[in-house]
Amino acid sequence: MPGTWGIHYIADEIAVGFGRTGRMFANEHAGVAPDLLCLSKGITGGYLPLAVVLTNDSIYDAFYDEYATLKAFLHSHSYTGNPLACAVALEVLAIFQEEQILEGLVSKTMHLASYREMFEALPWVGEFRQLGMIAAIELVKDRETREGFPWEERVGFQIFKKSLEHGALLRPLGNVIYFFPPLTITEEEMDRLADIAHRSVVDVLDS
Ligand SMILES: *Cc1c(COP(=O)(O)O)cnc(C)c1O
Repeated sequence: MPGTWGIHYIADEIAVGFGRTGRMFANEHAGVAPDLLCLSKGITGGYLPLAVVLTNDSIYDAFYDEYATLKAFLHSHSYTGNPLACAVALEVLAIFQEEQILEGLVSKTMHLASYREMFEALPWVGEFRQLGMIAAIELVKDRETREGFPWEERVGFQIFKKSLEHGALLRPLGNVIYFFPPLTITEEEMDRLADIAHRSVVDVLDS
């Protein structure tokens, strides 16, 4: 049921669902439950394209009745319920249980947090932000004033190119370097990623 105000709450957990923030769904951190929940990406571990929208009974029932009432929710997609993608999604759910992915994230998340110091020691790091298995390193020209690099310099892109040379594919968002690794990443692989990101930032900016 919609909450006190009768307003439906739609949560897009396409990026943050399926353990990314350390809980199965990010809404759990806030102790709330959406009326509509959009999921994709992690639902298949990213291996096949699948997206779903979950809803509660009150919304479902609004579109479900005897045929003669014509209450159906008239929409369709070419590949709705694609069996191959659904099979992969079921396997991902099985892996979450069998390999205790959520439980394993506790130490991995702490490991990711342990990089804060090495990045904050760099003069160009304005902020190191982290939630669960997402970390963002905000690069700035001036740490005191938080003045950013001019966008024309494409500092993030230079660092991306340098990191390829060192053997990692970073995907900066502007001048924010971020880590969004597979939840199955090992701590050794995380170390390698952090080391390459660190080296690439220094290579590009310390010149
Ligand atoms: C990737 C992404 C989308 C797009 O999802 P599609 O399933 O590709 O349409 C929407 N919202 C968020 C938050 C995303 O990360």
